[in-house]
Amino acid sequence: MQPRSYDFPTGLFINGEWRCEGRDTQPVVNPANEQVIGHVPLATQADLDDALAAAAAGFATWSRMSAAARAAIIEKAAALMHERAELIGTLMSFEHGKLLADGLQEAHSSADIVKWFAEEGRRAYGRIVPGPLANSRQLVMKVPVGPVAAFTPWNFPVRIPARTVAAALAAGCSVVLKAAEETPACTAAMVRCFQDAGLPPGVLNLVFGVPAQVSEHLITSDVIKAVAFTGSIPVGKHLAGLAAANGLKKLVMELGGHAPVIVCDDADVERVATMLAKAKFRQAGQACISPTRFYIQEAVYEAFVERFVQVASGLRLGSAFEVDVDASPMANARRLAAADAFVKDALEHGARLALGGHRLERPGYFYAPTVLVDVPETARIMNEEPFGPVVPFSSFKTVEEVLARANRLNYGLAAYAFTGSDRRALELSNGLEAGMIGINSMLVSGPEVPFGGVKESGIGSENGVEGLQAYLVTKFVQQAVS
Ligand code: NAD
Repeated sequence: MQPRSYDFPTGLFINGEWRCEGRDTQPVVNPANEQVIGHVPLATQADLDDALAAAAAGFATWSRMSAAARAAIIEKAAALMHERAELIGTLMSFEHGKLLADGLQEAHSSADIVKWFAEEGRRAYGRIVPGPLANSRQLVMKVPVGPVAAFTPWNFPVRIPARTVAAALAAGCSVVLKAAEETPACTAAMVRCFQDAGLPPGVLNLVFGVPAQVSEHLITSDVIKAVAFTGSIPVGKHLAGLAAANGLKKLVMELGGHAPVIVCDDADVERVATMLAKAKFRQAGQACISPTRFYIQEAVYEAFVERFVQVASGLRLGSAFEVDVDASPMANARRLAAADAFVKDALEHGARLALGGHRLERPGYFYAPTVLVDVPETARIMNEEPFGPVVPFSSFKTVEEVLARANRLNYGLAAYAFTGSDRRALELSNGLEAGMIGINSMLVSGPEVPFGGVKESGIGSENGVEGLQAYLVTKFVQQAVS
């Protein structure tokens, strides 16, 4: 397939207008060849103040519109996202490096999420509760919390903003979105769909900038009533602290994971190893629900590792627009250094390298699919999120033992288990401490089901009915006859 062009005006979107010129910029780099393909403007303090004022005015307009009128606009935006999926997916592939098929899939699935929330916004039901008084009604209402500051990362640069923005808008909130500076154009193209769908000015604002400065400016503002963040645990804790100290703002936090993968000796080893090897490396492991710590039961350990390595060693890495490519580069240079450090540390702790362990000798941030075996729990990779194409394997004897090992970390986002036994499936799904669990399945996310973690992996859930509730507050009214 011929490379398409990276051609989309990226700017700040404030009060219904795009702003580009006259600001500091940051280069945008194509991870597949390390070439600078564009520049993203960074918001000034005045831009941020304008975005806050716009969000305040936008909230006044949007929250007073009927749910049906809001739904019609959000639904139109979803339709435009489907129509423009090729543009959005191509921009994403240039900026993030993900394969074009994955970019297109993300564009369409993001549109599906937006459509789902358009409909769900009409179901923000309250209730009428029988009370102690005659001639009186007790009304419980769900009302939008207010303007939201949302911070989204580079690994799913359309799907994560889409689910955050769509849920907040569907609830009746306005949004100031700070998206990732590494991947600005695809997010801007998504925002453009909302603009072209007729969203009133100020209801959705998009900014880029120096992350720590932007988040502090927005979260400490009285305008902002809720904070949504997807990213790392340390940054999440910092933002939660700011939100607490400045108005005890409502939080939705999705803070990464360290998903254990448990394969029991009664699982279909050939099928599961093949599926996991393909899934793990496709986006270079840069997903918060990526399968991470592989615990394989003793009797099938060697066979599983052998099949996994066989599949992983056959994967072809390449750029988004090359043909016959199975896996993409890492999104930025700092993740390459991080992958190397995890491998070095594991080897120092006594692990054995079964595959990879180095970057590829070609331009771009390509890191070879890497497999480490017999990795002790003391290695860094068994304790910190690798967020890269490096897989540690360890064997286990009993389900009881592996549950204790799977649950020993403070992460609790996703977990996966594979078994042919219903009894073990129940034991594992009951015992795993995670917000999303796949039993004989990797599919743990979708518009209609909650996406979120327990323990330090997050607060609240996105998607599903829970995703809407995150942007609503409860108001109780006792209404008596005068
Ligand atoms: P990072 O911690 O520097 O940044 C993660 C994200 O947070 C980025 O989008 C960044 O722009 C943003 N960020 C950083 N400091 C911020 C601040 N003070 N205010 C607002 N936003 C801020 O790490 P990174 O190198 O970009 O990514 C690697 C790590 O981040 C991974 O180890 C992983 O834990 C985490 N991460 C998680 C997800 C997820 O889906 N949960 C996505 C991306 C990154």
